[in-house]
Amino acid sequence: MLDLFNLAGRTALVTGANTGLGQGIAIALAQAGADIVAAGRSPADETAAQVRALGRSFLDVRADLSTTAPVSDVVDAAVALNGRLDIVVNNAGIIRRADSLDVEEADWDAVIDTNLKSVFFLSQAAARHMAQHGGGKIVNIASLLSFQGGIRVPAYAASKSAVAGLTRALANEWAAQGINVNAIAPGYFDTNNTAALRADPVREPAILARIPAGRWGQPGDLAGAAVFLASRASDYVHGIVLPVDGGWLAR
Ligand code: NAP
Repeated sequence: MLDLFNLAGRTALVTGANTGLGQGIAIALAQAGADIVAAGRSPADETAAQVRALGRSFLDVRADLSTTAPVSDVVDAAVALNGRLDIVVNNAGIIRRADSLDVEEADWDAVIDTNLKSVFFLSQAAARHMAQHGGGKIVNIASLLSFQGGIRVPAYAASKSAVAGLTRALANEWAAQGINVNAIAPGYFDTNNTAALRADPVREPAILARIPAGRWGQPGDLAGAAVFLASRASDYVHGIVLPVDGGWLAR
């Protein structure tokens, strides 16, 4: 039974794997047996050391995903590691906080381009490879703001709501080619993304009080969901957005 979750011999591309949730996901996939290709704008040395300590290969590809320019090269580099690309985790993302009356166009574009446009075109480049090689797994990192509006983050909420729609749209088209497209919606996790919230004396306790599990998430809390959606265990799962949120949405 556990063999369904075994990723030995698979190559996984994770964007933004140098820190936070992407780092946790890369390590989880490596623990399940996958070789890891990290794509991001910062070196992923810490992740590399942890993945290699597990006996897995690790390739670090420099790519600024605020534009779609690098997506083809990223996929080509990932395929070159082992001659195959089985798993893509679209994790890299940014958030810009401002009252909606004050949001500037450059911030809107930066969030939408990184969180949505690059996710689509990297998925497209990967799926072109996967479709010719028996399929694959694409896992998008969505958000609670794929379901809710949030506060002072209109572009982020729009981008993550669109990621949920994109996940379903791509699942519909690519399921027949053996490509599973699904998403994880993390709740409130302890990463750089939420540093401002955790430092806010009003928002931090308000958020914590609403989480039934009674704590913020840690990157390792995504391990099970990530390995599930990257493995054969989810072969008949298409187009879902799986909350991993300590119960937030059930409240
Ligand atoms: P994080 O620590 O800020 O990590 C974000 C990652 O994305 C970093 O690796 C970052 O690289 C990378 N990135 C940002 N812009 C990039 C660009 N232009 N090109 C390449 N890489 C880029 O935050 P996180 O919480 O781990 O976020 C990971 C994902 O989870 C994001 O999509 C975020 O929206 C989502 N998420 C987070 C939470 C949460 O509570 N933390 C909740 C729901 C969803 P640098 O280190 O170089 O900036």
